[in-house]
Amino acid sequence: MHELSIVEALIDQVKETLVQEGEKGRVLKLELSIGRLSGVNCDSVRFAFGLLAPGTVAEGAEIVFQQPKAACNCRACNVLTEIDDLVIQCPNCGSGDVSIEGGRELLLQSIDVED
Ligand SMILES: [Zn+2]
Repeated sequence: MHELSIVEALIDQVKETLVQEGEKGRVLKLELSIGRLSGVNCDSVRFAFGLLAPGTVAEGAEIVFQQPKAACNCRACNVLTEIDDLVIQCPNCGSGDVSIEGGRELLLQSIDVED
């Protein structure tokens, strides 16, 4: 399960951010942005977090997920369609001359720390 290494890296990132910002409070909430096409499963991330967070700065933090949509940009009909799954054809005209935009992000958006 590669979510384990993702969460490990995430907790490291939280740690570093807190050190950089001189925060010493408890982490209340982490907001993650996980694109719909990233292949990362939110439930698995939550599960991995439950395994790895105890004993770290992120212990007990609530995790909030944002799942930005991807878009299929068609060069044949110039229509931008929001998609939940990867497509190889334009949902509008069926052309294969498309590029997929977004949906692969995996970002730590924000950290809420207790005052
Ligand atoms: Zn099209």
